[in-house]
Amino acid sequence: MTEAGRPEFGPDQLDALLDDLLALLGPRGVSTLDRALDRASRDGSGMSPILSAQHPLGRPDAVCYPKSAEQVPAIVRAAVRHGVPITARGKGTGNYGQVVPRFGGLVMDMTSLGRVTAITDTTVTAQAGARMIALEQAAWDVGKQLWMYPSTVQSTLGGFLAGGSAGTGTIVHGRNHMGFVESLDVVFAHEDAEIVHLEGAAAQPMVHTYGVAGIIVAATVRIEPLQDWQCLYASFDSHYAAFPAAFRAAGIEPKPRLISADCATIVDALPSDPALVRGRANVRGIIDAAALDETVAVLEAAGGRIEAVRSGLAQTARLSTLSYNHPTWWLQKAVPDTYFHMECQGDALVTRLREVEEVYEGGMLHLEVGHETMFGMINGVYHDPGQVFAGVPALEALGVRVHSPHQSYVDLDADRVKAIAGSTDPKGLLNPGRWQQ
Ligand SMILES: Cc1cc2nc3c(=O)[nH]c(=O)nc-3n(C[C@H](O)[C@H](O)[C@H](O)COP(=O)(O)OP(=O)(O)OC[C@H]3O[C@@H](n4cnc5c(N)ncnc54)[C@H](O)[C@@H]3O)c2cc1C
Repeated sequence: MTEAGRPEFGPDQLDALLDDLLALLGPRGVSTLDRALDRASRDGSGMSPILSAQHPLGRPDAVCYPKSAEQVPAIVRAAVRHGVPITARGKGTGNYGQVVPRFGGLVMDMTSLGRVTAITDTTVTAQAGARMIALEQAAWDVGKQLWMYPSTVQSTLGGFLAGGSAGTGTIVHGRNHMGFVESLDVVFAHEDAEIVHLEGAAAQPMVHTYGVAGIIVAATVRIEPLQDWQCLYASFDSHYAAFPAAFRAAGIEPKPRLISADCATIVDALPSDPALVRGRANVRGIIDAAALDETVAVLEAAGGRIEAVRSGLAQTARLSTLSYNHPTWWLQKAVPDTYFHMECQGDALVTRLREVEEVYEGGMLHLEVGHETMFGMINGVYHDPGQVFAGVPALEALGVRVHSPHQSYVDLDADRVKAIAGSTDPKGLLNPGRWQQ
């Protein structure tokens, strides 16, 4: 980890900031207690043995808890005045270490700003700390659905937009920087900071860039008419039959909201459920009722056995929590201190599956149908960072694009975002340490 970007601040600046925050938020609105600092230092980076070896990735000096949107710019003004770094925090499930304050300073816990404030035919507006599942519920209540939400359904809207990228709904709508966001209310790190409203393209540099260019206070994201979703579970003798079946099912119209597939070893690590048959590979998906018969036929033709068909919000959310990083998370829980993973993309994940698996010792792919391509997590037995990165050229040679979940540098349009942050955060105080040197 580099020291580049470390802001110059010390105990005097912190004390002065704490005085201001106490006046602004009262004694319950700010904490320097160990348990608050410990909590604000935790995230999902334990999934990476490379990041785990670097723990602690950081620790704040103080945590504050704004209770109203208006308090956010006031907090930012105070931190900027005293030159203390600020890192916004949602549910803290980010798995790259991007929510851990690299150089300490102030963590702003956004989870009390949890109101869903408006819903129209095409959008829902909520404060940054609103849970993704609460937004989906609000949409269902009026016959709508979110374009997308992550498998961490309890994570926050601000955290998903700033720190996440994809999830249930991505098959149709792509990643969260591809039109999901209609507008954002943000606060820049200026001494006269106020809430600024950004529409459309102007809001995009705030998405998946870890809060380095602005703190999201509220967001308006897209919804669409609710479809009749059926949660379909099928088991297979082998994932070599299951993965091509998932690939074929992905092409059926209306498109699925989610399709995930795993080999038996990963299925055995998932939470107990009669639909997840131990010792058998699995394909599961959130399927439009109009596509159910055709999807069942495709899976059965490939040797699949239908284990369950379920419906309702709770069931779709449950199936979502078995997707994306979650199967790796369960695998690591079942077999501790053994596996690492790499995020992979490309149809070669299915068409060259055996070769992909052979890149790493114990290679096991969790397959996800992505947006116009296959996506997944390749899990392998961990030895050292060199072995992990040595596999990248081998995967690329197979036609697989790789993203490393073992670092927290901004890697979406980084040059442009850095230029924008130069004016929205001239002192480099927003979640510093996120630029690759
Ligand atoms: C098991 C597991 C499964 C996961 N599955 C998915 C998945 O399906 N899809 C996916 O995209 N990700 C996934 N993730 C990553 C992560 O859970 C999600 O991206 C999640 O939506 C992050 O939300 P959060 O509230 O936990 O954010 P946090 O972890 O609190 O923050 C994430 C980043 O956003 C910044 N941030 C938070 N709030 C704000 C704000 N208001 N303004 C500006 N910046 C802010 C933080 O500083 C940090 O850099 C997974 C992680 C784990 C451990």
